[in-house]
Amino acid sequence: MSNIIDGKLVAAHIKARVAAEVKELKQKGINVTLAVIVVGNDPASEVYVRNKEKACKELGIISKVFHWDFSDPKMGQDRILELIESLNYDKGINGILCQLPLPAGYDEKVITNAINPSKDVDAFHPVNVGKIMLGDYDFLSCTPAGIMEMLNYYNIDVTGKECVVVGRSNIVGKPMSMLLLNENGTVTTVHSCTSNLAEVCRRADVLVAAVGKPHFITADMIKEGAVVIDVGMDRDENGKLCGDVDFESAEKVAGYITPVPGGVGPRTIAMLMKNTLTAAKQ
Ligand code: NAP
Repeated sequence: MSNIIDGKLVAAHIKARVAAEVKELKQKGINVTLAVIVVGNDPASEVYVRNKEKACKELGIISKVFHWDFSDPKMGQDRILELIESLNYDKGINGILCQLPLPAGYDEKVITNAINPSKDVDAFHPVNVGKIMLGDYDFLSCTPAGIMEMLNYYNIDVTGKECVVVGRSNIVGKPMSMLLLNENGTVTTVHSCTSNLAEVCRRADVLVAAVGKPHFITADMIKEGAVVIDVGMDRDENGKLCGDVDFESAEKVAGYITPVPGGVGPRTIAMLMKNTLTAAKQ
């Protein structure tokens, strides 16, 4: 039976630190402020944005939500770029994020690249991605950074360990691999073209699943005692929220494991709050 990693506990720890610093800045007359741009009416995005607003309120951070719903993406995109430009120059705004995914017709790359890197609290701008690569960063991508905080909280040192990351997306898999490498892990990234995926996973002391496929990682792919981190936010055949790891069988083999929900998710928002604070301090 594995140790269950409690994401809510780690998130509460991070949030308490952030709230204390936000309060200190407020006493100096600085109101930490996050601008959130939402385009269209994607129900999942609306839930994420509500959770971000709730977290801001809890920590004393001001959130300003800009909700745009243009039927014509060509016109909409220009207006959003204008909005981003004004927020970039607004001294009262510390962090800016544009909730992804954007509706069809919008160019995520153009919009992400328009955000001033020093306000890019999601760390999606190429400048911030490059800084993470160099190990010399202001902001870390929220999901991988939350995972590193969690490993740290549970005293799990990745130095010299075999770390396998399943998935190579720009927002999770690639930065995750980079952060594990920066912390001296021996990192392998696997993806849809990897031929011996199960075999590579079985070598992992630390296995991170960021695939987006329910129950993709099964017990037979996990080394006895491994640390298993499940990033997935998937729906099973009954529409119930689940992860990329088959938790029921995996927890019998893993040494540590994150549940879904209650694992990686809560930390991601906590890290966004931390990045907003960092932006304000800069
Ligand atoms: P993504 O952009 O769809 O990337 C999925 C990755 O998995 C890709 O690199 C893909 O490989 C790989 N993959 C897909 N099918 C595979 C297969 N059969 N064998 C091996 N690799 C396979 O997804 P993402 O944005 O990284 O998100 C991954 C999961 O994490 C999703 O469930 C998402 O909802 C969740 N998520 C959670 C949080 C959180 O805070 N908890 C944050 C972000 C994302 P290729 O590159 O070769 O196509």
